[in-house]
Amino acid sequence: RNIAGLLADAAIRWPAARALTDTTAGTSFTWSELNSAVENQARRLLERGLGTGDRVALRLPTSADFAIALFAVARAGGVAVPVSPLAPEAELTCLLEHSGARLVLDREALRSSAEPGEPVEPSGGDEDIAVLSYTSGTTGPSRGVMLSHRALLANVEQVGAVPGTLRHGDRVFIAIPLFHVYGLGPGLLHAAAVGATAVLAERFDVVKALEVCAAHRVTVIGGVPAMYAEFARMSAEQLGEGLATVRLLSSGAAPLHPKVLASIREKTGLEIFEGYGLTEAAPVVTSTLVTGYAKPGSVGRPVPGVELRLVESDGLAEPVPLDPDDLDDAFVEDEAGTGLVSVRGANLFSGYWPDGAHGPDEDGWFRTGDVGYLDTDGDLHLVDRANDLIIVNGFNVFPHEVEEVIVAMPEVAEVAVVGMVDERSGESVRAVVVPAQGASLSEQQVMDHCAEHLAGYKVPTTIEFAETLPHSPVGKLRRVPPAPLPPPPST
Ligand code: ATP
Repeated sequence: RNIAGLLADAAIRWPAARALTDTTAGTSFTWSELNSAVENQARRLLERGLGTGDRVALRLPTSADFAIALFAVARAGGVAVPVSPLAPEAELTCLLEHSGARLVLDREALRSSAEPGEPVEPSGGDEDIAVLSYTSGTTGPSRGVMLSHRALLANVEQVGAVPGTLRHGDRVFIAIPLFHVYGLGPGLLHAAAVGATAVLAERFDVVKALEVCAAHRVTVIGGVPAMYAEFARMSAEQLGEGLATVRLLSSGAAPLHPKVLASIREKTGLEIFEGYGLTEAAPVVTSTLVTGYAKPGSVGRPVPGVELRLVESDGLAEPVPLDPDDLDDAFVEDEAGTGLVSVRGANLFSGYWPDGAHGPDEDGWFRTGDVGYLDTDGDLHLVDRANDLIIVNGFNVFPHEVEEVIVAMPEVAEVAVVGMVDERSGESVRAVVVPAQGASLSEQQVMDHCAEHLAGYKVPTTIEFAETLPHSPVGKLRRVPPAPLPPPPST
């Protein structure tokens, strides 16, 4: 099976139904039109000498062009390497070298379209790599995650089996990057699998987004916490008008603040269902939609077909069993019962580019870099990333906990907490604080507030102020600047 098969099937099942609306370009396609555009591009790629397994960089924003390029590369048997269209030239060069991409599909390359000819049947499938997705490198170096057709299609099915998920007839608003696997899989591929209309926007602007949602009678929004934080700043009336036809809000990629969840619920009556995923899992692992209860602070339970367990890891406590019958034992109230989240399922990647290193182990399990625990209901809570753990005098400090305490101060807009090498304690806690607009705040005030709410070793010893903090393309806070790609493989 090949991801391009989703589109070919959609064109047979719902030829005249609206597949996609590109609200930035002002274009729209039926499934049949989209499939024809893809066939033309696939043929062009083959005419240009694309061979099976050849990498093609997609340097395109969230747009119809991205969808066409992605399906065309898959159809021609190539490997799509999505790249941020905003990536500086040097980063692109590095990525092209690392992936060995032979072609770059940008808008210009797509425009010089070919005459229609013989259709191209999807070639290759299952274990062939469909997408080589580079993680943004928020912890450690960015790596090329090899996602097979099998992995991507498995995750579409797994998410599709969750009650209340995206279904036929839905119109789903996607303003997140399609070059990130969250937009690509649960957004675009899922829409093609069920015949939902994808309503695409290149950029997220909250006022425009509400207009688009109203104009296109959007029923589902696939978003990230930064987007919902913007929605939460709007009035109940504005949200009521814009989101009048919306039935489902979903959030993923970064922690959703319970305050945002509560504010949207209060103003609209809608819940935001939070999912947890990672590129290596193509991407969805858990969702609160599985139980249908948008539990604040939790990322829910594994989607059907994905197994999850918490395992012991250096510096972390005992592993927690994950047998539903053992849930009482698995209950932990604090970080004493945390473990490293491990995942197994047909959605897992085939290792990192180019040699498939560090993929799932021989029993099929993959250790994510995330630390979490289960509550009494068996719902997963993420504590932080293991790599970001700060160890002060042998005690664990998870930066997210400290960030939550600091950001609760009304004078604070955002904060990043990181470790600093310290001669005496090994590491010490440093907080970089962005004050709220017009607020005046001293280092001492932040420290006093922390001392009131946190154990002594967790209180930052260094406070710095900044105007902004860096974020990834899906709005994730970057505690440290992204590390460069390792040197290209010598093969
Ligand atoms: P890198 O892995 O190179 O640092 P990245 O963060 O961009 O880059 P992704 O695959 O995009 O890699 O992100 C996956 C990570 O995002 C997860 O491992 C987890 O830490 C975080 N994440 C995803 N969903 C959530 C969520 N709902 N709440 C908290 N964290 C989340």
